[in-house]
Amino acid sequence: MQIRLGFSGTVGKTPLIRIRSLSEATGCEILGKAEFLNPGGSVKDRAALGIIEDAEAKGLLAPGGTVVEGTAGNTGIGLAHVANARGYRTIIVIPDTQSQEKIQYLKAIGAEVRAVPAKPYRDPDNYNHVAKRLAAEISGAYWANQFDNTANRDQHIKTTGPEIWQETDGRVDGFVSAVGTGGTLAGVSTYLKSRKSSVRTVCADPHGAGIWSWIKRGNLDFNAGSSITEGIGQNRVTANLADAPIDDAYRIGDKPIVEMVYAMIRREGLFLGSSAALNLCGAYRLAKELGPGHVIVTILCDSGSRYLSRLFNPEWLATKNLVPTAKDLSFTESLFADV
Ligand code: PMP
Repeated sequence: MQIRLGFSGTVGKTPLIRIRSLSEATGCEILGKAEFLNPGGSVKDRAALGIIEDAEAKGLLAPGGTVVEGTAGNTGIGLAHVANARGYRTIIVIPDTQSQEKIQYLKAIGAEVRAVPAKPYRDPDNYNHVAKRLAAEISGAYWANQFDNTANRDQHIKTTGPEIWQETDGRVDGFVSAVGTGGTLAGVSTYLKSRKSSVRTVCADPHGAGIWSWIKRGNLDFNAGSSITEGIGQNRVTANLADAPIDDAYRIGDKPIVEMVYAMIRREGLFLGSSAALNLCGAYRLAKELGPGHVIVTILCDSGSRYLSRLFNPEWLATKNLVPTAKDLSFTESLFADV
């Protein structure tokens, strides 16, 4: 029999999908890891499972315990599913700027959701610090701490990286990923470079984030603008990101991201969230920079269905001046400027 053991056994081993339109336009193989097909619907199922298994192995989480986390949504969803399957309670602290769909989902699967005003990391009321304090107050509670708990990155070293290596028969030349915690970019980059040091690893950063500046200039000083993307956009060097072998970074604005979301629906039948579209913008640019014949892998983090009220709401897009207009892929010309 070929069976998977429950939710946890179903996380990972996602298909690697060839993106035909972008591959043909670049002469490269542009491949997207279909993380939206994880059982909780995003790449964060991997980190959630890795963090909970690590806590159990270290005796930090025991039957009847509570998992507490500050999260923009997808990690919370992954944690709540894994916690349900293993008999833990889940409390999620979420910034109130996040999409209603994710909050409704969390509540539907029984997580206790505490929405707090969005505050910068340096503010003691930032959602992360609230989660940390809450876990300290509740007996038997464990703070998942996805940003600085390197069990997150380790899960990508153990699973995502090796899957990409095997699925490409070691032919992968480049890897592109956005950064939220940095677990995906750091973990996959670390693994792929351990197999083939020439693999080029690139961060695709949205406006408002500082990782582009950190990689290109060695400091976090430049983070101009803002972005409609969710779950990404980091302004500090997390423990997961520290020492990651990253070669380059691209700064990509919302306009091409939204065009890419709609291009993927029309051209590929793929319904993706904005971080996946950012990743594909980055993969396209890397393919053009490396030239024809290369194999570029990126992450299709989650599905567009998580963003119906925003990314797929024409009125909301109009308020941001982001209504898609492209008839072809010429919007990709704007990807090379780091604007
Ligand atoms: N895309 C989405 C939709 C996410 O929720 C996240 C994680 N918050 C990421 C990308 C980034 O992944 P990571 O935390 O591994 O950097």
